[in-house]
Amino acid sequence: MKKLIKGIDASPGIAIGKVFLYKEEELFIDKGEFDNSEIQKEKLIEGREKTKEQLLIIRDKTAKKLGEDKAAIFDGHITLLEDEDLFDEVVELIEDEKISAENALEQGISGYCDMLANLEDEYLRERAADLGDIAKRWLYNIVGMDIVDLSSLPENSIVVARDLTPSDTAQLDLKNVVAFITDIGGKTAHSSIMARSLEIPAVVGTGNITELVENENSIIVDALTGDIILNPEEKDILFYTKKREEYLADKELLKQLKDKQAISKDGIVVGAWSNIGSPKDVSGVLRNGANGIGLYRTEFLFMAKDRFPTEDEQFEAYKSVAESMEDSEGNKYPVTIRTMDIGGDKSLPYMELPHEENPFLGWRALRICLDRPEILKTQFRALLRASAFGYIKIMLPMVISIEEVRKSRELLEECKEELRNEGIKFDEKIQLGIMIETPATAFRAKWFAKEVDFFSIGTNDLTQYTLAVDRGNERISHLYDTYNPGVLSAIKAAIDGAHDGGIPISMCGEFAGEARATALLFGMGLDAFSMSAISVARIKKNIIKIDKKSSQELVERVMLMNTTEEVLKEIDKFNNEFIGL
Ligand code: PEP
Ligand code: MG
Repeated sequence: MKKLIKGIDASPGIAIGKVFLYKEEELFIDKGEFDNSEIQKEKLIEGREKTKEQLLIIRDKTAKKLGEDKAAIFDGHITLLEDEDLFDEVVELIEDEKISAENALEQGISGYCDMLANLEDEYLRERAADLGDIAKRWLYNIVGMDIVDLSSLPENSIVVARDLTPSDTAQLDLKNVVAFITDIGGKTAHSSIMARSLEIPAVVGTGNITELVENENSIIVDALTGDIILNPEEKDILFYTKKREEYLADKELLKQLKDKQAISKDGIVVGAWSNIGSPKDVSGVLRNGANGIGLYRTEFLFMAKDRFPTEDEQFEAYKSVAESMEDSEGNKYPVTIRTMDIGGDKSLPYMELPHEENPFLGWRALRICLDRPEILKTQFRALLRASAFGYIKIMLPMVISIEEVRKSRELLEECKEELRNEGIKFDEKIQLGIMIETPATAFRAKWFAKEVDFFSIGTNDLTQYTLAVDRGNERISHLYDTYNPGVLSAIKAAIDGAHDGGIPISMCGEFAGEARATALLFGMGLDAFSMSAISVARIKKNIIKIDKKSSQELVERVMLMNTTEEVLKEIDKFNNEFIGL
């Protein structure tokens, strides 16, 4: 019967296949008394030598398949295997307790594993699994049992196991294994890390899947979501076959475009940037081929705590993003960090924001920061300090007036002066920009351009404020429409104003990642698109297929349209002809 099982998506992909249930034979540990300590010691040593030989073979195979860095996992295993403290402890057990080599080894290792498994640190906890991996192999070698061979399995096998050790994973028959699933494990377990390098879909931490399946059961693994379907119906197979094809096509596209720039047919390069909410997002951004961060929403750092983050805590977060955003040659990518944008739909429990009738029109973002300058100054100091480690740009949200910009710049200058006096390094040329989220800035962009170094259009808010449509109100969501000619006029005014004023302009609202709008925005002259990481390849692909002249002509036609319907018709016609959308 069909059954749905949920786990953790450890390595992305989709697979449809048959269960290969991987269960080791029960290991027999002799718990009796032994007087022959010397013989037991010899068994222990021989077992260790054999284990080392096997690990060296696996290490070499891994180096060939995955490269030296992944093979180094097994150097770590060999170091653990040869740990003299562990060895002495086990010998002591053999001699004092008069027990068998395998019994002593099992007891000695379990003490170590328990200690590691109880640690807070996830990484160290996962190392208990490595030690368990070595111990298993060592024990099997002492008692003379063979470990199940995973290197030749039936076609389309989905390996289902209680746990897969790194050495199991390294031996997987890559021709025939299409995915694996385990009862236990987390995303940072070495087997998960290796699965990602091997590009094998994997779902871990399912609880008890080994008890629910039998060999040869038909099974689907959606390692994009962590969903598993046991004994799927025909319609599930059809659905996931299609999803798998789409995923593979997307992956291929991504691979081809990852290291390419977003460059139009006539050679115009635009930024393909990403938005992030935390330093953890950076690896995904780089993996997807973005060459900058167009928006780091720092308020999540504030929301994750039960008090304001300190200057040092903020500094560490910003520095880590600035340092890791670099290309393969170590050139730093731009990282645009927005000052705290609290209020509206984002609250800070420890700040006790007053209840407001219209929070989106209320005390939010820069308004709070200018009323409470100590908050902004702490953030500015952290940003300035971090700017010594990369290419940081500072961005202010929710601006409506030149006074706000000037006041913010004054505070920034004060912070710079403080740091100079304290002898702390920072980027003296650090850029200060603003988000264009209100009609007040969009339509006066040329004048704001004289005050700042760059703009970024926040279409999420610009749409809501231009149309007076609450972005979170379900009831009127059909009115929330960035293609509304009024909103498009605001966007165009912002881009024209930026260029008239001589500064660059990007977009970091969701509209930047909307494939349907790429040509229109490119035609208007947008300099960079900043979006969620998964949209980067698609937007690059669009840019590669268009040129400036025809995109500008599209803009001219669209700006004459009076309704969204007409706008979309015009855009779709263009996209169909040039992009194949
Ligand atoms: C925007 O308003 O478009 C934007 C990017 O900011 P946020 O979504 O965080 O309000
Ligand atoms: Mg906004």
